[in-house]
Amino acid sequence: MPVLIFIDHADGHIKKASYEALTYGAAVAKQLNDSAEGLLLGSVNDDLAALGKYGVSKIHQVSNEALSHLDAQVYAKVIEEAVASIGAKVIVFSHNQTGKAVAPRVAAGLKAGIVTGAVGLPDISSGFVVKKSVFSGKAFANVNITSAIKVISLNPNSFKTVAGEGTAEINQLNVIVPASKIKITAVNKVSGEVPLTEAEIVVSGGRGLKGPENWGMVEELAHVLHAATACSRPVADSHWRPHHEHVGQTGVQIAPDLYIALGISGAIQHLAGVNRSKTIVVINKDPEAPFFKAADYGIVGDVFDVVPKLTEEIKKL
Ligand code: FAD
Repeated sequence: MPVLIFIDHADGHIKKASYEALTYGAAVAKQLNDSAEGLLLGSVNDDLAALGKYGVSKIHQVSNEALSHLDAQVYAKVIEEAVASIGAKVIVFSHNQTGKAVAPRVAAGLKAGIVTGAVGLPDISSGFVVKKSVFSGKAFANVNITSAIKVISLNPNSFKTVAGEGTAEINQLNVIVPASKIKITAVNKVSGEVPLTEAEIVVSGGRGLKGPENWGMVEELAHVLHAATACSRPVADSHWRPHHEHVGQTGVQIAPDLYIALGISGAIQHLAGVNRSKTIVVINKDPEAPFFKAADYGIVGDVFDVVPKLTEEIKKL
C-alpha cells in the first residue's frame, strides 16, 4: 500500500515543486512504514531513475502522447486507474496550478478525503491529522482524514527538499487514457525568464513605479538575480504588466525564498498572495507603508534611486 506522489512537469522537465512533493511523500511513507512511489503522466527529458534520491523506490510512468498537455479530467481518470492498479492509499500532489485542478477531482473519483494546501506531515498518533493553511495563510487548521484513501496537496515551499542517494526502478503502467473533451488549439508561452510559480526569487512592482515605461529597471534587477517578475493588481488592471504576473488574493499565490516589493503599499489582498515568501524585502518611499510590517528587510527610499544602485551592487558580486 505505497504512498504515491504525482510528479508534475512542463516543457520536458520535472517542476521544482515535485521534488518537494517527492521528499514529503517519502517522509509520509516512512511514518506509515510503507514505500514511496512516484507517478508521471507523459514523458520528460530528465532522468527518472535519479528521482530515487528523494526517497522513492519506484516511478510509474504512463507514456502516452495524449498526456503531454494537462487536461484535468483526463489526468484525474488516469491517476484513479493508476492508484487502483498500484494499490496506493495516500496520494500526494503539490498544491500548484496542476495540483489544484487535478487533486480534488482524483479525491472525488476515489471517494477519498482530501486536505489541500498542507503545510506539514500528518500526525498519525490520533488518526491522520494534516495541518493546512487557511484564510490566505492567516491561520492553520488541523484536519483529520478518515477515509481509507487519503489525498494531500502540499503547499509549495513548505517542506524542505532533501536529496540523498538511491535510484528508482521505472515501471511502465498500462492504463487506458480516456478521450479528452477539450481540444487545445494553441499554447502561448508566458513572458519572463523564470516562471513565476517556480521562481526562488521574485521582483515585484506596484503603482509606485508610475508607468510601464519604468519596468526596465524591475526586469534588470530580476535578470541579475535570476528572478521572475510580478506586480500588484492595479498594475495589471492598468495593463502596465500582463495579468499572469499579478500576485495576491485574486491573482497568483507564490511562496519564493525571496520576494522583493518595489513601490507596493502592502494591502491585505496583495499580502494574501505573497505572505508565505521566506524573506520579504520592501522598498517604499513612505515609511508608514503597511508592507513594512510584513517585511524582513525594509528600505525607505525612492525606487528610482535605490533599485539602479542595488542592481549595480549585485552585478559586482
Ligand atoms: P498603491 O496602493 O497605490 O501603492 C503604491 C505604493 O508605492 C505606495 O505605498 C507608495 O508609498 C509607494 N511609492 C510611490 N512612489 C514611490 C517611489 N518613487 N518609490 C518608492 N515607493 C513609492 N491587489 C493586489 O496586489 N493583488 C490582489 O490580488 C488584489 N486583490 C484584490 C481583491 C479585492 C476584492 C480588492 C477590493 C482589492 C484587491 N487588490 C489586490 C487591490 C489592493 O487592495 C490594493 O489596492 C493594491 O494592492 C495596491 O497596489 P499598489 O500597492 O501597487 O498601489
